[in-house]
Amino acid sequence: MTVEIRIDPTRCRGHAICALMYSEGVELDRWGYGRVVDGTPEGRRSIKRALRAAAACPNGAVVVEDSADRRIRLAGRGPDGG
Ligand code: SF4
Repeated sequence: MTVEIRIDPTRCRGHAICALMYSEGVELDRWGYGRVVDGTPEGRRSIKRALRAAAACPNGAVVVEDSADRRIRLAGRGPDGG
């Protein structure tokens, strides 16, 4: 399954949680706003981290979608994956 992560810059408020939770794919710009550097997480572990980053963003700015542009969310789990 191909998965894509993106950040909606109009919703991002620079909380930095995304970069902590999906550090291999998101970094912070000089103002502290999230910026995707690897938009296609591969492997179960990386996809799960991207989904956790999306669930943890307090502004809903992190979006994870499948190849049909359908939004994917962690099913029945909180931001910590618990
Ligand atoms: S967690 Fe959300 S609001 Fe914060 S930097 Fe990342 S995308 Fe922006």
